[in-house]
Formats: sequence, C-alpha cells, structure tokens
Amino acid sequence: METIQNAYGGRKVTSVSTRTQPVYNPATGEPIATLPLSTLEEIDAAVAAAKAASVEWGATPPLKRMKHMFKFKELLDRHAADLARAISKEHGKTHADALGEVARGIEVVDFACGIPHLLKGDYSRNVGPEIDSWSDRQPLGVVAGITPFNFPAMVPMWMYPVAIACGNTFVLKPSERDPSAPMLAWELFQEAGFPDGVLNVVHGDKTAVDALLDHPDVKAVSFVGSTPIAEYVYARGTAKGKRVQALGGAKNHMIVMPDADMDKAVDALMGAGYGSAGERCMAISVAVPIGEKTADALVEALAPKVRALKIGPATDPDAEMGPVITADAKRKISGLIDQGVKEGAELVVDGRGFALQGYENGYFLGGTLFDRVTKDMTIYKTEIFGPVLSVLRAGSYDEAVKLINDHEYGNGTAIFTRDGDAARAFADKIEVGMVGINVPIPVPVAYHSFGGWKRSLFGDHSIYGPEGVRFYTRLKTVTSRWPTGIRAGAEFNFPSLK
Ligand code: NAD
Repeated sequence: METIQNAYGGRKVTSVSTRTQPVYNPATGEPIATLPLSTLEEIDAAVAAAKAASVEWGATPPLKRMKHMFKFKELLDRHAADLARAISKEHGKTHADALGEVARGIEVVDFACGIPHLLKGDYSRNVGPEIDSWSDRQPLGVVAGITPFNFPAMVPMWMYPVAIACGNTFVLKPSERDPSAPMLAWELFQEAGFPDGVLNVVHGDKTAVDALLDHPDVKAVSFVGSTPIAEYVYARGTAKGKRVQALGGAKNHMIVMPDADMDKAVDALMGAGYGSAGERCMAISVAVPIGEKTADALVEALAPKVRALKIGPATDPDAEMGPVITADAKRKISGLIDQGVKEGAELVVDGRGFALQGYENGYFLGGTLFDRVTKDMTIYKTEIFGPVLSVLRAGSYDEAVKLINDHEYGNGTAIFTRDGDAARAFADKIEVGMVGINVPIPVPVAYHSFGGWKRSLFGDHSIYGPEGVRFYTRLKTVTSRWPTGIRAGAEFNFPSLK
C-alpha cells in the first residue's frame, strides 16, 4: 500500500510520524494508502522552506511569476484526466464530475496568469504641490491553506495560484481523506519551474492545523470546511494576529415559483441535489416550491427521477452519482434520514437500503427525497452533506424569502421563475452571498470571487478573484515629494492641502 509523502523545499519527504491513518476507496471500502499525520517538526520544516523561498519570490517580477503560472496551467490541462482519476479514486465522484472540478480549478490558475495587471496600483499626481502619491499591493510572506475533502484539487486551487502569483509562498494542508490529487498538482507545479519552497504540502489533522494557526511565520490562513471548524480556525488564527478567511458549511435553498419552467427546475434540482452525492457546499438541499399546486407538481416530477438515479463507482461511465466519502458519513446521513422520519417529514424516496452488487462494502446511499419538511426539523436545520433533498412547501414568495434569510447559513441560493421582477427583488434582498437566477449552483467564475454570508464565511474576504488578491496582499501607500520641497524648508504643521 502506498504511503503518502509530504512535499516541501522542492522535494518529497517521507514523514517519520508514528501517527498515520488509512485513505479509503469509498466505492469498495478498501484502504488504498497510508497517510502520515505529520509531526510538529515536519510542519515547522514546511513553513521554514516556505519562509526561505519567500523573500526572493516576493521580489520576483510579476511577469516572471506569471510565466511559471502559464506553464503550470498548460501542465494541468495536459494532466486533467490524471488529476480527475486521482480525485475519483479517493473521493468517489464520477469521472465527468472530477473533470469538471479540475476545469474549475484551472480557471483560477488562468486568472492568476493575469497577475501583472491585477497588481497595478493607484497613482495620484499632485496630491499637494509637487507631491505624488501611490498605493501598491505587496505580498504577506508565508500563507497557509487548509482544505476539505469534497474538492481535493479545486479548493486548494482557489487559494495557492492567487497567493503565489501575488508573491507569497504557500503551505497547503489538504484533507486527510483524499490527498493524492493535491500531491499530483504539486508535482506539476514543480515541473512548471517554480522555485523550491514556493508551494509546500504537509498532511495531517487538527495537530497540523493548530501548528499552522499558531506559527509566527504564517501570516495568513485560508480555510474551507465545515462551519464549526471554520469558526474555530478563524478565532484561533485571528487571536494570533493573522489574516483569516474561513469558509464554512451551507444549507442552500432553491425557490420554485409557480411560473417556473418545471422541467428545467426539476433537472436543476436533480443535478444540484444529487450530483457528487450531495457533497458540495453549493449543493441545493432544500427546494421551496411556492403554493401547493407547484409543490405537488414538483414532488411528482422529482420522485421517479430520484428513484432512477444511476449510482455507481467512478469507473462506471454511466454513473450519475458515486458513494459518500466515509463509512462514518454514510452512518451520519442515514441517521439524519431516520431523524427526519421520526420528526414527521414525509419520506417520498428512501435511499437508506441501497446496495450495489460487487460493491457491498462501498459507502453507497441511494437518493433520498423528503416532502413536507418544516423549519423546526433537524433535517432542515443541519447540513446533511449527502444525497438528501428536502422539499419545504411555502405559501408565498415572502414566506420563502424569510425562511432563507432566517437560516444560519448564507452560502448559495437560487430562484427559478420567468418573472424578472421577482428575480430582481430576490437577488437584491436575499441575505446570501451567491445567488442564482434560473441557475441552481451559482459558483462565481474565477474572475469574480466566491463567498457566503452569515455562518458560511468567517472573515471579510471572499476567496479567489479580486477578493483573493486583496486577501493575499497588503496595501502600501507612498506619498512622495522631491528636493524642491526640502529646499523650501521644514514643515511643522500636520500635513494638509494648502
Ligand atoms: P472539515 O471541517 O471536517 O475539514 C476541513 C479541514 O479541517 C480538513 O483539512 C481537516 O483536516 C481540518 N480539521 C478537521 N477537524 C479539525 C479540527 N477539530 N481542528 C482543526 N482542523 C480540523 O470539512 P470536510 O468534511 O472535509 O468538508 C466538508 C465541509 O466543508 C462541509 O461542511 C462543506 O459545506 C464545507 N465546504 C465549504 C465550502 C465553501 O466554500 N463554503 C466549500 C467546500 C466545502
């Protein structure tokens, strides 16, 4: 069985840690690799490698940084299928879905290739007599990223291409569940010719995360994962004086208005609810049809499609949905379905008993559909992170909006309607960071930025895009006066315009 290595200072390093854990193939339930939970010395060594590289890298002209980034992009394009296979093997998502993940990650690299333009500052001539002023964005130094299991290639790429293009060096602590894709990306990154120590990868659990949060040489931390850990990372990191952006969990609602194109709404819900087995922070987990007639039509159209979902391992090209990530996740999701039944929701399609011949030990669940869910139920309040869609019937548009605004999460949301006025009012008033209008998963493209509101994001910068550039740089403003000012004599009053 393969032992996963760390990678810092330009080379792969075998961990000496005595603490390890298996990486599983979720389709078979078999352990396929051993992951080291790195020692504190190893975390220190990775940060030291990043620090050693940071001065020279920060002083490297952005144009030169960009050239490496272009090469990296080319290598990622060429190896997209290899990356997708590495993702699917440990995550379980279908090959097509994994390819989509890689493509969305590469888009951020595309964005980072534009760094010379993105780092252009502002310049004001004659802010006073013969005095000029300019603002400039400079790198922070060493920054770290801590990432979740559900997008093992893409979410790290939300972070390090932008951070590194800005002139920082990076230490990545990927998810313990699927470490191979970020390792393969690291190899391609090295092949692209970046100096040693610019990107470093260390594996580990809470111990590694805490060490990065406490490390005096780490200046900023990007985190993506569940809300309780995001909140913890934000509190601990900021208490240590770091910049932290910590993206958390979600419960994304999709309103279906009575005038919506029902076929399109149903297809959208199938993809957004069950794609990637519901393990997406932008998955739609609550459908909110307006009015009983809309609700009846929606549930009637959804139920047979949920029953007919093609579930299988990533090696099956016909599969629409794979297994969930771990045996624990399967147990947790099944338990929440039990709870939904107990609390009185109507179980229209039950995915609990699903079994796949030849894959009896895999972590498969069937698609589950609940109707008549109410806002006090556990399945409504909790992020299930599995192939479970709840239908919560609302009497009016206003009731649906209130429901969404009252929810603790505010990551993504969508409305399906043919009415421009309803769509515009929704986009304007809804208290959620990313909004779709007849688009179920409105993940912003790489040249916008990604981020939720409320308990879906701690910190004040969204990730990647222009917000990423702001997060990974600090502003310096220079005010400059040349010798004639000095010849004019000393100035003792507080500077002001004359
Ligand atoms: P998780 O919170 O369990 O783990 C995320 C990272 O935190 C991992 O690297 C893990 O090693 C580390 N970690 C886990 N427990 C920790 C602890 N006690 N102390 C310090 N670090 C710890 O999340 P996950 O299960 O890997 O991913 C799923 C979650 O991520 C879902 O809640 C999903 O909504 C969220 N997510 C959010 C976004 C977003 O953009 N908002 C994107 C993807 C995933």
